Amino acid sequence: MAVTKISKKTKAPTADPLLIEDNSNPFNSMMQRLDQAAKIMNLEDDVYQVVKVPSRIIEVSLPIKMDNGRVKVFGGYRVIHSTALGPSKGGIRFHPQVDEHEVKALAAWMTFKCAIAEIPYGGAKGGITCDPKTMSVGELERLTRAYTVSMSDIFGVDKDIPAPDVNTSSREMAWLMDEYSKVNGSFTPGVVTGKPLLLGGSQGRVEATGRGVCTAALQAMKKMKMNPKKTRAVVQGFGNVGSISAKHFEANGITVVGISDHTGAFYNPKGISIKKAIAHCEKNNGTLKGFKDAKEISHPELLELDTEILAPCALENQITSKNASRIKAKLIVEGANGPTSADADDILNKKGVIIIPDILANGGGVTVSYFEWVQNRTGYYYSEEEVNNRADKWMINAFNNVWAVAVENKVPMRLGAYVHALTIVAKAIRARGSY
Ligand code: GLU
Repeated sequence: MAVTKISKKTKAPTADPLLIEDNSNPFNSMMQRLDQAAKIMNLEDDVYQVVKVPSRIIEVSLPIKMDNGRVKVFGGYRVIHSTALGPSKGGIRFHPQVDEHEVKALAAWMTFKCAIAEIPYGGAKGGITCDPKTMSVGELERLTRAYTVSMSDIFGVDKDIPAPDVNTSSREMAWLMDEYSKVNGSFTPGVVTGKPLLLGGSQGRVEATGRGVCTAALQAMKKMKMNPKKTRAVVQGFGNVGSISAKHFEANGITVVGISDHTGAFYNPKGISIKKAIAHCEKNNGTLKGFKDAKEISHPELLELDTEILAPCALENQITSKNASRIKAKLIVEGANGPTSADADDILNKKGVIIIPDILANGGGVTVSYFEWVQNRTGYYYSEEEVNNRADKWMINAFNNVWAVAVENKVPMRLGAYVHALTIVAKAIRARGSY
């Protein structure tokens, strides 16, 4: 893919000043970066107006009969940011923090992520405001099915394709696929990705995001002349993305010295056995609580540990103007979406820290989602090796494209990623035309 050149044309508009006052709001944080990218590429207003707003916001109320016999009403969202490049794609998260602002930001990030990964999708995101840790399996199933029914005219193989995200996995995707298939009257595996293998899931999908995070880090390390064997990593978050990133770091000779999840943060300067940590989680309700092979430290301390690589793989806004100056890592690879605030970016850029931005670093997941969707449509299934080889190649290609745009325009990788993505999305919008 050719390097994106910036042409000097009409002036791009700036973000709404009311929007950029509150940096803790992920949508505002996203808009600040988008604005910067639009400005440096002199994106014409006609296109920018389209890109900066979501094309559709759906909000639903989901009354669910809880196990105690009482009805509880949950709020659910689906935001379709763009369908310029194809049907919209993006996960569904279950979390108490889910709100419209968060889902809007996450949906826009999916648009840019898919553009960078060069997969033919637009971007969307969904979420339900709930605390799955306090809910039974039956309650979660009813909630997932109710959400699916209420979104059944939104979702579709060629319309909008959900996937797992924070606190959702192949289990929820199987319920979603089953419920949608019932409503649709035919077996429709291609309506959702991240399904169990038995129901049309893809080999390699579970590992895809973490694997891609590691591949992206290894590419940056090559550029930075860092030897994996002499490199330490700290990983925040030990869910699907964090644990698998840590596993791949370890497999590539990197010493993982710090890990954490919502129950605790752990540090061992000699290195933590990720195999042991994963085994511990399997026996302990999926948590690191009580992990003995490392010293327990505080959550803020974890991010500020002495390390070369920091991989935030949890939620948004973990690295902010409050702690950015104390971050010691020289390479940050964002497994999570939006872990670094716009203000923190400025501080880290000044310190010379290289940040592989979320919309590049965690794109391995949606890339393999695309492979899953292709397999569902053709009915021909690839081996794990085929999926992994393809995914690695796509990630390396995406990394090199973003790196080249950043170098060409003398901007940090995040801005390079936004410029690159915006260039592709803008081309599609122009080519499709408007009313
Ligand atoms: N939830 C993942 C993400 O944020 C995967 C999305 C997908 O596969 O559609 O990238």
